[in-house]
Amino acid sequence: MRAVQVERTGGPEVLTVVDLPTPDPGPGQVLVDVVAAGVNYIDTYRRSGVYPLALPAVLGSEGAGHVAALGPGVEGFAPGQAVAWKEAPGSYAEQVLVPAGELVPVPDGVELPTAAAVLLQGLTAHYLATDTYPVTAGTWALVHAGAGGVGLLLTQLLKLKGAHVLATVSTPAKAELARAAGADDVVDYAQASARARELTGGRGVDVVYDSVGKDTFEDSLTALRPRGLMALFGGSSGQVPPFDVQRLNALGSLFLTRPTLASYTQTREELLSRTDELFGWIAAGRLDVRVGGTYPLPDVRRAHEDLQGRRTTGKLLLLP
Ligand code: NDP
Repeated sequence: MRAVQVERTGGPEVLTVVDLPTPDPGPGQVLVDVVAAGVNYIDTYRRSGVYPLALPAVLGSEGAGHVAALGPGVEGFAPGQAVAWKEAPGSYAEQVLVPAGELVPVPDGVELPTAAAVLLQGLTAHYLATDTYPVTAGTWALVHAGAGGVGLLLTQLLKLKGAHVLATVSTPAKAELARAAGADDVVDYAQASARARELTGGRGVDVVYDSVGKDTFEDSLTALRPRGLMALFGGSSGQVPPFDVQRLNALGSLFLTRPTLASYTQTREELLSRTDELFGWIAAGRLDVRVGGTYPLPDVRRAHEDLQGRRTTGKLLLLP
């Protein structure tokens, strides 16, 4: 089978397509024929060494496909079944071993590429909108990178809850997409804090969802109302350096969290209930999953360059 391997950490040039033997599923594992693999920012962190990766390794973590074979002890899945997953190392490949506990059945109303496109970013948007902050009708939220993969989904979920959304983007074309996803107002990053105050009568927004990190963090804090919540959930521009917690005091008893998906899908029940809700909204036409780019496996370097070069919108998929 063909797979995208990394032998040393570095830029997109370390991504190499190789031929590897098809693995045998061990106890609790399922072998899946991959139809689409999700390209996520975390893959770039692992590729470049920001997050540890035991090398050599096949990159990728998310995808959707058909069950090919079951390992010993696996129940509840059958060969040919449509499935998706958010965390199976080695997903940039024609076949991958997925722990059965990570596999989610994909219902008839959802296409496999859509399932691959929504799992990681959709689950992230889901926990951010439902649990990280108690969003209700009238909540004011600032969503950075509003035309990105997570950004478009998060904006839609916030709007389903009746929130007001101020989004940031870098180009007019991206602004149009953010607005189409429901954002009430869209501005360039430099205007975010001032606009947040204008829109809220000087008070500040209730919650900031910041995935850009290094470049936006300080400004994001000043967009918040007293006792507002800063959800720093990524570092597309680089990681935020060490932070003096006294600033939270000075800026109005702010809350700061650095959430991660694993903490919000700790049990299989939690994984399935969030996924069921996402798939239900997609099937009902209430959640639009935008695939902004598809790449054949040999073009994987271009996918990473485009994502990190801010040339993309929505979700990127690798098609093995
Ligand atoms: P996006 O599609 O959002 O791509 C990143 C976007 O960030 C770009 O398109 C760009 O939009 C914006 N951006 C702003 N500044 C920069 C910069 N200096 N370099 C690159 N991009 C920049 O990616 P994803 O939706 O895949 O992921 C978004 C973030 O969410 C990532 O940081 C990721 O790590 C994080 N994440 C966190 C999770 C968690 O649970 N904690 C789970 C999933 C993702 P524009 O051109 O409009 O500025």
